[in-house]
Amino acid sequence: MAKWMDELVEYGSFGDVPVLVVAPHEGVSLEIVDGRVAKIGERGTGYLARLAARHIGGSYIVSHVPRMEADFARDPAELGKGARFKYNIDGEIFTLTSHRNPAYAGLLGEFHGLIERLNPRFLLTYHRMGGSDGVDLRFGFGRERQYIGGTENALEFKRRFLERVSGLEVLVSKLKLAGESEFILKSHYRGRVAGLVEFSSKLFRLGSGRIDRRVVRAARVVAELAAEWVK
Ligand SMILES: [Zn+2]
Repeated sequence: MAKWMDELVEYGSFGDVPVLVVAPHEGVSLEIVDGRVAKIGERGTGYLARLAARHIGGSYIVSHVPRMEADFARDPAELGKGARFKYNIDGEIFTLTSHRNPAYAGLLGEFHGLIERLNPRFLLTYHRMGGSDGVDLRFGFGRERQYIGGTENALEFKRRFLERVSGLEVLVSKLKLAGESEFILKSHYRGRVAGLVEFSSKLFRLGSGRIDRRVVRAARVVAELAAEWVK
């Protein structure tokens, strides 16, 4: 079922529902930060993307390349120059430099080609955020919510989500984590609907290291709503 590019980018389709769920940051690398070893990456998001796609009969792509090497949510033209980003390690925020290795240029180009080839009508990217602000899930539709056609649509999407999932604190981002600098969305949203979904890291840690059932449900429901949105 799953196909691979260079054994690093996994993708597949479970049907012809035109929704694509991308997890660009599944890859993890060990880095020395402030004298400590830190695992940089968003493990678990690939699993969520895959199961969400399977749930609706859509498609998924998971990059297992660590973002420190090549950040698949950044501009390919910037690869090798280094991109600064904020990362939450045990509640402390650090500024790190990702996207450093030009050897991934070819693979990154193929990844963008694959998104165009799959040609979704609704494009989602799944991420995992440091959960210091108490929010469980954030939707990002760009600063003016232009990826979903404006604020009214963004709030309607959130309203429908909350009809099906309870017990989670959900926000539509305005500035922080709005997906404005997310190159996957920025470069592919035209002519389609697109959105960034940030799941709180807290939800990945509950229940002895297993992913919380609520986050699994949320990942499925977002894809479900996306499929209905473009039906
Ligand atoms: Zn991410």
